[in-house]
Amino acid sequence: MSDNKDLYRDNKQTGSLLDEMNLDNKNLQNIGVEILPVHTGGTVHAKRIPGKFRMFKWITASFWISLFVFPYLRWDGHQAILFDLANRQFHIFGLTILPQDIWMLAMILLFFALLLAASTAVAGRLWCGYFCFHTVWTDVFTWLEEKFEGQPNKRMRLDQSKMSFEKIKIKAPKIAVWALIAFMTAFSFVAYFTDAYDLWARLFSFEWGSTETIVILSLTISTFFFAGILREQTCIGFCPYARIQGAMIDTQTVVPAYDNERGEPRGRMKRVKPGEEAPDLGDCIDCNLCVAVCPTGVDIRRGQQFGCITCGLCIDACDSVMDKLKKPRGLIRYASLAEFAGQKLPPLFKRPRVIVYTAIMGFAGAMLVYGLLTMSPIDLKALHERSPLFVQMSDGSIQNKWTIKVVNKSNEVIHADISVTGPAGLTYVAGKQITIQPGNVGSTTLLVRIPKNNLTETSTPVYIHVKDLNNDEISADYETAFLSPKKR
Ligand code: SF4
Ligand code: SF4
Repeated sequence: MSDNKDLYRDNKQTGSLLDEMNLDNKNLQNIGVEILPVHTGGTVHAKRIPGKFRMFKWITASFWISLFVFPYLRWDGHQAILFDLANRQFHIFGLTILPQDIWMLAMILLFFALLLAASTAVAGRLWCGYFCFHTVWTDVFTWLEEKFEGQPNKRMRLDQSKMSFEKIKIKAPKIAVWALIAFMTAFSFVAYFTDAYDLWARLFSFEWGSTETIVILSLTISTFFFAGILREQTCIGFCPYARIQGAMIDTQTVVPAYDNERGEPRGRMKRVKPGEEAPDLGDCIDCNLCVAVCPTGVDIRRGQQFGCITCGLCIDACDSVMDKLKKPRGLIRYASLAEFAGQKLPPLFKRPRVIVYTAIMGFAGAMLVYGLLTMSPIDLKALHERSPLFVQMSDGSIQNKWTIKVVNKSNEVIHADISVTGPAGLTYVAGKQITIQPGNVGSTTLLVRIPKNNLTETSTPVYIHVKDLNNDEISADYETAFLSPKKR
């Protein structure tokens, strides 16, 4: 319980404190506190107020500017990030990932999936509140809506008004800007799969392929629909992550929460007449600002709810009210259920969920680093002939045959030279030197012969080497088994 009661008591006793602070209900607006109507259905038109979480939300949202910028960056004369599906190559800042290295992408996905789980376990739906493309796009769309159509009350009245030329005139510019952003989003997405400049050029000469046209059109429509029309309903009704996040949080997870003990019983301030008992109220003055700013229309005072994306905007709202009332901040704050129950939170490194998630993340991260450090610009595979496994030659030697495949993962043409080492007397015949274009696979046949007397086992290791004739540092080795008949 707060010193609200004291305010009333003071007022009753001296009449001075409320007067000094102008805290009479009629005059709450004088100190900037509005009593706002509660959202009762329909589109949520959230009020925007400044605050630290609002600022944090803009900062994290700005990450998505990269989506629009990266397709235009060049690296070694190529698009810096290009997922070239036609040639089955992913180019990421000079690194070419071919299908055989796809496990590294799997590690990246695993790492980020676990990062998501770990961050949810520690601080709730951080992804939803600050990074998710849907909430970020919705935030930008509603910010623009406010610029074109005004504050929430005005927008609500406009929505409820009958269709008229005036209404169309107000709504048309917003719709045009939304459509432009939706188109740019779709275009930028597709520009990661084909050259961005070429995509622009082909747009103006009407040369887009059917796949590009269909993907860009459908993404434009869905971006407009989900971020502009459906908004918070996407989080509440469609998002699968919203449904599973409940399983990831526990009583130690910190989420935006209302301090029930401090805030209740809530109530609006009333001047106490002489002789009247001051009501025993908590710090919540029931102004509804926390509900009015919520992008999903949640009243956090009813406890943690499915619709809460943990964006913290209600914290900003309530802190601004507390500042005006000259009361301590934090009536709504990031806190865990354990904290409200008076328990002490164990450090992160002692929490089982965090330990498990971090361990798997560490594994994925280590595998990724290993993959990057050992990734060679050339990849060698040798496929042993199956039928026959070996051939006995007229001179008594044994011959094995392989099909050699060399993958060029670099951005330069490779002139690959093949050599083989193994037991004494080994000779080989490889196809002539292979020239392999960047991102392509070259193949040739390799014949290896070893005198039978030099073979002590039915399976003898031999080593195939490949190197670029123009660059000794580009090379790869492959160990394989030379097969021979049993000795009698
Ligand atoms: S919790 Fe804070 S913002 Fe919400 S109604 Fe109470 S005083 Fe107002
Ligand atoms: S209740 Fe608060 S934290 Fe949750 S979505 Fe609404 S404003 Fe964001």
